[in-house]
Amino acid sequence: MVRIALVFPELLGTYGDGGNARVLARRLEWREIAHEVREVSMDDVLPGADVYLLGGGEDGPQRLAVELLREGGLVERVRDGAKVFAVCAGLQILGERFAVEGDDEFPGLGLIDAVTRRGPERRVGDIVIRTGAGDEGLVVGFENHGGVTTLAPGIASLGTVARGYGNDGRVDGVRTREVWGTYAHGPVLAMNPGLADALLEDVLGRPLEPLPGVADELHLARVRATRPTA
Ligand code: GLN
Repeated sequence: MVRIALVFPELLGTYGDGGNARVLARRLEWREIAHEVREVSMDDVLPGADVYLLGGGEDGPQRLAVELLREGGLVERVRDGAKVFAVCAGLQILGERFAVEGDDEFPGLGLIDAVTRRGPERRVGDIVIRTGAGDEGLVVGFENHGGVTTLAPGIASLGTVARGYGNDGRVDGVRTREVWGTYAHGPVLAMNPGLADALLEDVLGRPLEPLPGVADELHLARVRATRPTA
């Protein structure tokens, strides 16, 4: 049974990232792999799960979410083997600290060795991230954030930025043993079925048979429409 927890959609759901849970569930269903999706609201006790999904959000809700997750024991769940897939604000709060409006910094959960500061301008637009070879290795999405994230030396990103800004204009997201993170909304797993399956393989701990279909065709159409400028 794969347990998927969609964390605080009322706080971290501004950008439709809740769709990532639906995509994971559907791809498991197509493969006849047992699963359940738990929507965790801010009044709930954080349940046990195999993968926790955190979405993007505005500055205030993001600050509330980090405190609820600290009290709720997300870090302990991850230390016990759970994975996290985090988008934008969700990614920022997993770091050591983050700044939202102004330059005030707030403590993150410390699950990744990264710091988010306020950038000089808001980054809004298409983002394309190279995570592997060929068009299949391009992750496409949409970014909208004011934060600039710096990974500590030796911490792997999700990929290099081929279009847009990502963490710092050079790389996007994070990829550690426990955490997958990106600045891409979309929902990004709907737009990039290869990324969804890579995450599922990591959660399951085994390879999956490909599921060729319209999702892959649409992914390649999006790649062509957002052809990298670099
Ligand atoms: N509030 C954060 C920022 O602006 C994250 C925004 C988001 O999740 N899209 O940097």
